[in-house]
Amino acid sequence: MISISQKTVNSKIDCSGIGLHNGLRSSITLAPAPCNTGIVFRRTDIGGENGIIKANYKNVIGTNLGTTLTNEFGAKVSTIEHLMAAIWGCGIDNLFIDINATEVPIMDGSSEPFVFLIECAGINVQEEPRRVLEVMKKVRVEDGDKFIEVEPSKDFSIDLHIDFNHKEIQQQKFDYHSTFTSFKNDICRARTFGFKHEIDQLHKMGLAKGGSLDNAILVDEHGIVNKGGLRYEDEFVRHKTLDFIGDIYLAGHFILGHFNASKAGHGINNKLLHKLFEDETAWRII
Ligand SMILES: [Zn+2]
Repeated sequence: MISISQKTVNSKIDCSGIGLHNGLRSSITLAPAPCNTGIVFRRTDIGGENGIIKANYKNVIGTNLGTTLTNEFGAKVSTIEHLMAAIWGCGIDNLFIDINATEVPIMDGSSEPFVFLIECAGINVQEEPRRVLEVMKKVRVEDGDKFIEVEPSKDFSIDLHIDFNHKEIQQQKFDYHSTFTSFKNDICRARTFGFKHEIDQLHKMGLAKGGSLDNAILVDEHGIVNKGGLRYEDEFVRHKTLDFIGDIYLAGHFILGHFNASKAGHGINNKLLHKLFEDETAWRII
């Protein structure tokens, strides 16, 4: 196998927006990080060690309509998955993400603004080779009618299936294969989505307070509410694939493995990583 070098961004770059769930304004700054740092959030409003939160599956504390990370001091950062997917999609191994609040801005509900940000900063190829996680045997997790399994493969691929009881969505399937599918063209523009009849309940739970037609697809009993319609005919399953990629990158490594997922979500995505890492014969770092 050809050795690939680790990568970070060339220079600092920032953006700001509102949080999908808390509705509050926040800013992030992406900054270059040395080899073998991984992806690290730094809460600038907390500062120092107490504000450092590593993007790792072990630090996941919440998976309700978004993935939330924490550290040993109780600092949190939420709705990280679209940013994580963009970082994965741009092939970035090492990055500091300075954030001045608890929730990553939702931007337009997809990963595209973050991909644009990383491309504007430029990509810096580093000295050390990338260390990749190779799946060595099949691992499966189930939760009711949801399941995910991963098995050994020479590259990274996902077969993802969703099933929503709504005429606009119903059953959709998307096959992502890193050799043939482009994250930037085929995935990164897919937006998050929600159902109109669930909004009151979400607001009561303190969720989706920043949600609008500018940052989510809204579906009601008649169809898509957004005037511009969909960005891809099957935008829903592509967004779930985007979420999956963002969550799975909390493995801390790019992965060689084939994933098969049905009705995947943030909770079960995290459960899969725990089960994979639990069995030391199921993976190796190369
Ligand atoms: Zn999402």
